[in-house]
Amino acid sequence: MGKSGKVYLVGAGPGNPDLLTVKAKALIEGAQVVVYDRLIGREIIGLLPETACKINVGKEAGHHPVPQEEINRILVEEALKGHDVVRLKGGDSFVFGRGGEELEELIRAGIAFEVVPGITSAIAAAAYAGIPVTHRDYASSLHIITGHRKKDGKLDLDYGSLVRLKGTLIFLMSLAALDQLIEGLLEAGMSPDMDCALIENGTRPYQRKVLGTLANIESLAAAQTVVSPALFIVGRVCSLADQFDWFGRLPLKGRRILAVQHQKTGRRLAEALGRLGAEVRLLPVMQTRPLAFDLPDLTPYTTLVFTSANGVDAYFQQLLAAGQDCRLLAGKKLAAVGSQTAEALAKYGLRPDFVPSFFQGEALAREMIGENRLTPADRLLLLQAKEVSPGLGQALDEGGIPYDSLAVYETFYNHRDFPGDLAGYDWITFTAASCVEGLARCAAEAASTAAAEAADAPIAVATAATPALRPDFSGLPALCIGPTTAEKARQLGMKVTLPPQATIDSMIDTLLSIYAM
Ligand code: SAH
Repeated sequence: MGKSGKVYLVGAGPGNPDLLTVKAKALIEGAQVVVYDRLIGREIIGLLPETACKINVGKEAGHHPVPQEEINRILVEEALKGHDVVRLKGGDSFVFGRGGEELEELIRAGIAFEVVPGITSAIAAAAYAGIPVTHRDYASSLHIITGHRKKDGKLDLDYGSLVRLKGTLIFLMSLAALDQLIEGLLEAGMSPDMDCALIENGTRPYQRKVLGTLANIESLAAAQTVVSPALFIVGRVCSLADQFDWFGRLPLKGRRILAVQHQKTGRRLAEALGRLGAEVRLLPVMQTRPLAFDLPDLTPYTTLVFTSANGVDAYFQQLLAAGQDCRLLAGKKLAAVGSQTAEALAKYGLRPDFVPSFFQGEALAREMIGENRLTPADRLLLLQAKEVSPGLGQALDEGGIPYDSLAVYETFYNHRDFPGDLAGYDWITFTAASCVEGLARCAAEAASTAAAEAADAPIAVATAATPALRPDFSGLPALCIGPTTAEKARQLGMKVTLPPQATIDSMIDTLLSIYAM
């Protein structure tokens, strides 16, 4: 039998991907097999490699969970197959996470393991709610307590001791037993005026908090229908929550944004908006795959043009696979559309000679011709997608610049993550014209899939060649990176906002200036 793999017991933090540890992120991004729980959100699952085997052992409230023995068995079985296993748990694995039970089982089976601590929701949710868990003036100790009831429905807590601690009490899994908890604390002599807080979905963009006192928190929570996951904090430190509410005051707090983009690449906009407080849903509408092509003879060309980071990767994958390296491009001028394309070239040790001021192929041609960087004595090779937009070629034709075009990758649409209703978003952001087209196709595909499912008919798989249907996008607020993208969005009837410059930073500044008022 081969060597068995190792199990990494990894705390994934409270749900916000920014709160993963560096080690957790590295393990997640390199994972072969991942076994994860319900508390691990979509954002973190999105960081896993496409190729990873993902085993969901979580449960939605009310459904049957995968029993702990079964989880233990899966961990052992996968490790014995020789796979390294990332066991992802919400918060920290040892804070009411049953991490210890899993380790005991691994030891019994002789399987090696490591533990990566995570930021527990107990302190992270508090911090994001503006509650310092200790403070010299209010509390000198902190206690994390389970509010999980026993089979008979009773909480097994020593309320007298809890009250005498005079510290900050943080109850996890406590929503269902809130009434019992409060009654217990009051009966043991805690003041009905004691400050307390309920924090729902702590650290996530849609975090909610309810502040009150022991006497009124239950009715306040009922009025706002607080749902799981939530935790309950009792202590004088809760009185600081308004004053310290940095998260609730972020400039884009409460804004819902759908960030339409190519697969994987270009998370920068979504991440930046998320850090400014917005609730961002990523919608990767397009995927790309490299095409098989013969490496072209570069002798006739003076200049190579890359129109996207995907094009750079597809070309260099082929070049490296052919046993060549970047010296093959020696002496050629390089032009790149967009900063991400330039960054992709940098990965291969290359610096473009020209990047246009607009993220647009046409701008590249016009600016290069305008600055006399291109003359009819040049010859260009455009390395681009199979589905090219005509602007670049037309502008070169008009300038009398000879060129050839090589398709190095192709694009296809995916509607897997389509959110359905687009009306609930304050903004839909587009970083490329193809993303607008992608959203239109996704919507059409999702609609026809739903119709096909309703009719129980076989589902047609759409490709880039499928004619696009046009669902109704009229009036939807679109933030577009540049003029070509904007034009496409206008054609669909969207209400377009265009930043002063065609950059991601300018898109971010545009939203900030709208909400700074
Ligand atoms: N190991 C986890 C806790 C698991 S018990 C940790 O260290 O955070 C599950 C309980 O954790 C939930 O019932 C809830 O009380 C709390 N919880 C987890 N994530 C939360 C979040 N984002 N916001 C509020 N409470 C959360």
